[in-house]
Amino acid sequence: MTLPHTGRALADATPVPYWLDRPARPDPLPPLTGAHAADLLVVGGGYAGLWTALLAKEADPDRDVLLVDAGTCGWAASGRNGGFCAASLTHGLANGVERFPGEIGELERLGRENLDAIAATVARYDIDCDLTRTGELAVAVEPYQLDGLAADAELARRFGHDVRLLDRDEVRAEVASPTYLGGMWDSDRTALLDPAKLAWGLRRAALGLGVRIHEHTRVTGLAADGAALRATTAGGADA
Ligand SMILES: Cc1cc2nc3c(=O)[nH]c(=O)nc-3n(C[C@H](O)[C@H](O)[C@H](O)COP(=O)(O)OP(=O)(O)OC[C@H]3O[C@@H](n4cnc5c(N)ncnc54)[C@H](O)[C@@H]3O)c2cc1C
Repeated sequence: MTLPHTGRALADATPVPYWLDRPARPDPLPPLTGAHAADLLVVGGGYAGLWTALLAKEADPDRDVLLVDAGTCGWAASGRNGGFCAASLTHGLANGVERFPGEIGELERLGRENLDAIAATVARYDIDCDLTRTGELAVAVEPYQLDGLAADAELARRFGHDVRLLDRDEVRAEVASPTYLGGMWDSDRTALLDPAKLAWGLRRAALGLGVRIHEHTRVTGLAADGAALRATTAGGADA
């Protein structure tokens, strides 16, 4: 039987995310067994959980922080995303202006602070995740889009972005596509990074601060227990 062209091209492919399929992937930490107490239980070791654990330890090094993940830290969305780390909290300035006209100034400020804090954490813990503040290039491939880019540039400048409009030759000097007619380069509000290496680096940093991490440990139930919270895990151990 002959496979159609796409079938042949994919015949040797395996459904493993590119970023995670590398020797640098850390060995899993042992699952939680038995009953444990902690000041703070973090459920999930993606960016949200790992950063929560890190911040909790930074705020109070004596706080006992336990983090559990059903798989391994970073195996889910955090280890397989596009690696575009943008300051915008609103999926773009124009979208934010339209949806949150009263709050967009504050959202822009918080987003900028957030990106700077991410970069500072990466530097503080020496996380090797190829974070590069490349900025972002929007391009026009039809003549009418050039006016749109000019309007976007004006809007961005009103909110303090460092933007530059590029003509045909300038944009093609950046990315040599014969379809590009012009571009807008927003120079300092987006970084590129290696998503899995960021997650693994945060995991290492959290372990270094004394966060207890157990992988392959799924939380299956939460219940109030006096002033505390009792979490049950898939293996039957209590945390
Ligand atoms: C294909 C793709 C591309 C993306 N591209 C980008 C991008 O370029 N830029 C960008 O900013 N964002 C991007 N995102 C979004 C970004 O990756 C996510 O918003 C972010 O990683 C979410 O982090 P998280 O910690 O909330 O979730 P996750 O990384 O999904 O982590 C959740 C963790 O919780 C664990 N968990 C869940 N339930 C339990 C339980 N009961 N017990 C124990 N553990 C549990 C899971 O095992 C998992 O490890 C992309 C997402 C995807 C999927």
